[in-house]
Amino acid sequence: MPQVIVVDDSRTQRRIVSEYLRPLNCDIVLCESGQEALITVSERIPDLIILDVEMPGLSGFDTCKAIRGFLQEHWVPIIYLTGRSNPEDVVEGLNVGGDTYLSKPVHKDVLSAIAKAMLRLSSIQAELMSANKKLDEVAHFDVLTQIMNRRGYEDMLMRYWKDHRRRNADLTVMLMDIDNFKKYNDNYGHIQGDQCLRQVAQTLKQALKRPIDVLARYGGEEFVVLLPDTAIDGAVKVAQRFIDAMSEANIPHAFSDCQPHVTVSIGLTHAKLESETSKDVLERADKALYQAKEAGRNCVRY
Ligand code: GH3
Ligand code: MG
Ligand code: MG
Ligand code: MG
Repeated sequence: MPQVIVVDDSRTQRRIVSEYLRPLNCDIVLCESGQEALITVSERIPDLIILDVEMPGLSGFDTCKAIRGFLQEHWVPIIYLTGRSNPEDVVEGLNVGGDTYLSKPVHKDVLSAIAKAMLRLSSIQAELMSANKKLDEVAHFDVLTQIMNRRGYEDMLMRYWKDHRRRNADLTVMLMDIDNFKKYNDNYGHIQGDQCLRQVAQTLKQALKRPIDVLARYGGEEFVVLLPDTAIDGAVKVAQRFIDAMSEANIPHAFSDCQPHVTVSIGLTHAKLESETSKDVLERADKALYQAKEAGRNCVRY
């Protein structure tokens, strides 16, 4: 059932409006001030707000501004219903974020028809938001391995970067590459190669203990891991756990030049959040990874 918030300092007005809205069959919450409306909105986002303008404390315009600030991109229709309706008021009210401006007294059928139209828009908006959320998930997901993809990693990195810089906290980035994977593909075939990628992703995923750690397929047979609130010594332990997990998973690779099973090489680096870019960090992790390859693979370097 859609929820409508009716904000008016006059008890009679609140009663009249809710009476007019009755045919819409919605859940109506009455608020006697802008402050009360803000609290109500913060507890549950409504589908429509009907707002008086002249009220003690926060005016309708101030309330509208505050709600828009709070809800950000989540749009909820706001209808002003007021006795104050000279052109300057109408313009100001719409400029601060209101969607419709109605003068009191309003005809019963007009108010309910406009409220109904606004609820229609509100439900289209809700559908769009949920479709966008699904698209977002798809865009951040790697279908083959069922873990995050490179775009997901980049988004998470930006999020963690800002937060860690503000808190002056440690953020470590890990780049991982399957060893001798070309030989694996050449000898076992691509389909088996894809299956191997899935197994490696699941093995790495299970070896990660904290839900805030991010594992993503960076591309091809490379994986990237973000370790929030983790300095190098902690990250080295996680990396070693990955190496051990790969050994336990024991995915046969008879053509590897380091072990009879599939292994990974790992490069680690601590992000200098104040002075460098995300690209710098990844380049350094890649250099460390290269050193791990040079050192004979199946090992960690930083
Ligand atoms: P190194 O130990 O130095 O990393 O050697 P490598 O053979 O793993 O490295 P290289 O970069 O030469 O080869 C990577 C191979 O990974 C090339 C390609 O055959 C394979 N590969 C990349 N993406 C996929 C994929 O999505 N599926 C499959 N089956 N193979 C992939
Ligand atoms: Mg009033
Ligand atoms: Mg590679
Ligand atoms: Mg490789």
